[in-house]
Amino acid sequence: MKFTNYHRAQSLEDAHKTLQKDKSNTIVGGGLWLKLSRREVDTAVDLAGLDLDLIETTDKTIRIGAMTTLTQIEESDTLRQIASGILVEAVSEIMGRQLRNVATLGGSIIGRYGFSDCITPLLALDARLDFHERGIVSLQDFLTEKGKVDDILKAVVIDKTKAKGYFKKVKKTAHDFPILNVAVVKSEDGTRIAIGSRPAVATLAQAAMDHLAAATTIDKKTITQAARIAKESLKYSTNHRAGAEYRAHLAEVYTRRGLMEVNGLED
Ligand SMILES: Cc1cc2nc3c(=O)[nH]c(=O)nc-3n(C[C@H](O)[C@H](O)[C@H](O)COP(=O)(O)OP(=O)(O)OC[C@H]3O[C@@H](n4cnc5c(N)ncnc54)[C@H](O)[C@@H]3O)c2cc1C
Repeated sequence: MKFTNYHRAQSLEDAHKTLQKDKSNTIVGGGLWLKLSRREVDTAVDLAGLDLDLIETTDKTIRIGAMTTLTQIEESDTLRQIASGILVEAVSEIMGRQLRNVATLGGSIIGRYGFSDCITPLLALDARLDFHERGIVSLQDFLTEKGKVDDILKAVVIDKTKAKGYFKKVKKTAHDFPILNVAVVKSEDGTRIAIGSRPAVATLAQAAMDHLAAATTIDKKTITQAARIAKESLKYSTNHRAGAEYRAHLAEVYTRRGLMEVNGLED
């Protein structure tokens, strides 16, 4: 990315106004993904200094500021306690420490990256996004939208739930992008299954979730059926990392393992 002007925002309102001034103007999170693009930008708007790098808790929720780095998430004792620490686990598997020191949660969500290891666990955790202009939008809805985001993400909000969680990232080498990732969260509200890097962006395995919700008992048979449904009801494609068939197979295997784990069952 090449930018002509750098603007360190004094407030969210200031950041938003500057963003609206020119179509090419862009918010900068950690700047790592932007740096790889060939875009020409009039003004890069920096949110550093707006206190958006905080992890705050209330009685019922946890609010993770959009400028929170992946390292901050990795080191958060609060987040480690949520759904078996799946967000912490997912983040700690992304590249190396130097990248995680700089990459932000906001920057990891706004691009709706198919490969994202942050989005998959957050979708299973039923996260909400708090935007400056739009207010609260569910991550699930945000992921179905298309086009450039002309708003500022302030924070990601999750419930302080007593849930069990499971996360799996399948990758070829330690620092690689995922071939597929799977997150399962079982709370008192039911079970959510998110599958990402198919290679399309993460989505809920809704038919598999419905199957579990309708079951009177959650046993190995129901779980095996749900995992099969997760494989058969979602679309898996081929890219340079893996084939569609292999991805679909992985989805079934790790959905089953995740469901077994959150239900305290063993083979
Ligand atoms: C070499 C490399 C390897 C990687 N490997 C992985 C991996 O294996 N798994 C994985 O999940 N991720 C991976 N990533 C992605 C990384 O984890 C971050 O998601 C990515 O760098 C974006 O974060 P950032 O803070 O750098 O965002 P930026 O590059 O600053 O911004 C990205 C986009 O988000 C917008 N944006 C940023 N913050 C806001 C905000 N608050 N409000 C509105 N818009 C905003 C920007 O305008 C831009 O469009 C990798 C990245 C690199 C460079």
